[in-house]
Amino acid sequence: MIFVYPPSISTCYGFVCRNVDKGYKLSSKGAHFAVGVLVAAASVYVARDVFSPWQLLLLACGCVWGSSSPDWMEISGWAWWGTRYSLIPHRTITHWMMAWIAATIWTMWHAVSDGTFVWCIAAGFTLSGLTHVLMDARTPMGVPVFHPYKRRKQVRHSKKR
Ligand SMILES: [Zn+2]
Repeated sequence: MIFVYPPSISTCYGFVCRNVDKGYKLSSKGAHFAVGVLVAAASVYVARDVFSPWQLLLLACGCVWGSSSPDWMEISGWAWWGTRYSLIPHRTITHWMMAWIAATIWTMWHAVSDGTFVWCIAAGFTLSGLTHVLMDARTPMGVPVFHPYKRRKQVRHSKKR
């Protein structure tokens, strides 16, 4: 497991790249969590001069918390026969890229200008939620980009090749 060792940036980067190449593995929970930690580390590094330590901590917590949020926000579960079901259809409104981009800009702006407890967590949450959607966008199933119920199919990974 990647988290047993003190994670170095190069280890994390190598892990992400390998999974990007495979494509299909990207939507797994472990990969989303790993990237969430990576986003947390990166955003703390980038924002270290803008925020105070406690704000950075909240930002990092938000990143880890939000890394799988587009999936669990569908309020899903597993049936005893092994099929996944969810209240909100998989990869529709919760994986809508435009909404995540807008939410990220909105929360970031508030986190920088207001800097309160909630905004710092929200900024990390939306940033890693957006990262999740970008990862899912690389898988064959794709994600909705402009319209919440129209998925852009990933042609590159189709069976034709
Ligand atoms: Zn997802």
